[in-house]
Amino acid sequence: MIVLITGPSGAGKSTFVQKLMAQDDRLAFSISTTTRPIREGEVDGRDYDFVDDDAFDQLVEKDAFVEWAHVHNNRYGTRHSRLKEMAAAGKIPLLDIDVQGGVNVIDQYGPELVSVFLFPPSWEELERRLRSRATDSDEIIATRLKNARLEVGYADRYSFWLVNDDLEDAVSRMTAIILAESCRKSSFEVSPLD
Ligand code: 5GP
Repeated sequence: MIVLITGPSGAGKSTFVQKLMAQDDRLAFSISTTTRPIREGEVDGRDYDFVDDDAFDQLVEKDAFVEWAHVHNNRYGTRHSRLKEMAAAGKIPLLDIDVQGGVNVIDQYGPELVSVFLFPPSWEELERRLRSRATDSDEIIATRLKNARLEVGYADRYSFWLVNDDLEDAVSRMTAIILAESCRKSSFEVSPLD
């Protein structure tokens, strides 16, 4: 099983993912590779693999990525090697990536992929959440709102829809999805009685 979670910025994806990870130790966060500069408090190799443009180009050339995309003027990608490492450790990889990258992953994986689109409760609430990040200018907020409308247009490609109205409640619905998926016949290698 691979869990893919996406949604427009302002849907509350990061907090949602953190809370979910804290509740289920079978999940392992898929560490992406990015050209974005490291932020204060972040750790290379834990939050992201931080690389420069040349190194990213080389990885693209070597076909190292399951998918990669431009997000907010930087490049981000999910590496085959990271997913393999997690599977080898018996973990369920959890991908927190942008909507377009998510669609690329959906196109590559079959039923083992649990694809989830996280919605904000309303457009008004999305705008309020974006505005509450005091660091962003009006221009950035307007761009994010415009992008959010485009991103929601891809929601149809995802198998599960979650509305992030109440965080606890949305996380418990997500836990139920993972539980149900782990009971699928296809997730058993052999019959439990063999
Ligand atoms: P941030 O720079 O704030 O950590 O992330 C910005 C955006 O990039 C988020 O929407 C995040 O989901 C997305 N992102 C992170 N890693 C990947 C990745 O490997 N591939 C794609 N397509 N998007 C990613």
